Amino acid sequence: MTPFLCETCGTQFAPSAQAPEACPICLDERQYVGWRGQRWLTPEALATRFGPRIERDAGLLGVGMSPSFAIDQRALVLPTSGPRILWECTSLATPETIEQVTAEGPIDLIAISHPHFYTAMAAWSEALGGVPILLHAADRRWVMRGSARIRFWDGEGLELAPGVRLIRLGGHFEGSTGLHWHDEARPEGALFPGDALQVVSDRRHLTFMYSYPNYIPMHPDAVLALERAIAGCAFADVYGYTWGRNIIGEGRQAADRSFERYLRAVGAQAA
Ligand SMILES: [Zn+2]
Ligand SMILES: [Zn+2]
Repeated sequence: MTPFLCETCGTQFAPSAQAPEACPICLDERQYVGWRGQRWLTPEALATRFGPRIERDAGLLGVGMSPSFAIDQRALVLPTSGPRILWECTSLATPETIEQVTAEGPIDLIAISHPHFYTAMAAWSEALGGVPILLHAADRRWVMRGSARIRFWDGEGLELAPGVRLIRLGGHFEGSTGLHWHDEARPEGALFPGDALQVVSDRRHLTFMYSYPNYIPMHPDAVLALERAIAGCAFADVYGYTWGRNIIGEGRQAADRSFERYLRAVGAQAA
């Protein structure tokens, strides 16, 4: 029995004797099936072809893969005043990767923004000693490899510790989640929005898409709901989904500017 991984989105599936028929994540209109057709990798083949990429990204320990793989997200280790959090996840959970990620301290929990980054979360949790994986319950059906470590949370927010909070953002996925970190360890505040808000190439604005690879914009009502969801959050920095894609300094102003710009562009606000 092998927990196969989808080559295009990096999602790991429940162990099976033969590769799954299809990948529901890639068949969904927010993703796409690879141009060479649906392809699968075993964890062993993945570990042969890829290694960990562990380096600092705007001051935080980043966790990715080298060469880049699938959606090419980079996870982050957040050393809050409370738990040490692995934010997001990758497809590679080899002993070499785990050793580097925990070199500065053990991880207490994994929190993931949305199904595109669920990847090998079950393997990661086990490799980290069985730490909990926090996912929003609204996206439960997108879990392809279940785990007793998964803790589904419901509603609009979940406080992990004073100043460390998960916020349901929606828009990209119904349960799309952001993390707001604003405690003594991060006094200026930082926002980790997954793909619900996306740091764009100028690194001074955010945009809002239902699908990024297929360019389907987010409905203005969802963007307004998202704006309300983070209205009370103070943050200087916004960490985007991959390496270097961050707004460092004046992130709150960048977000406010971006909501206004987007809503004007789609005709949902007076010019
Ligand atoms: Zn896939
Ligand atoms: Zn996504």
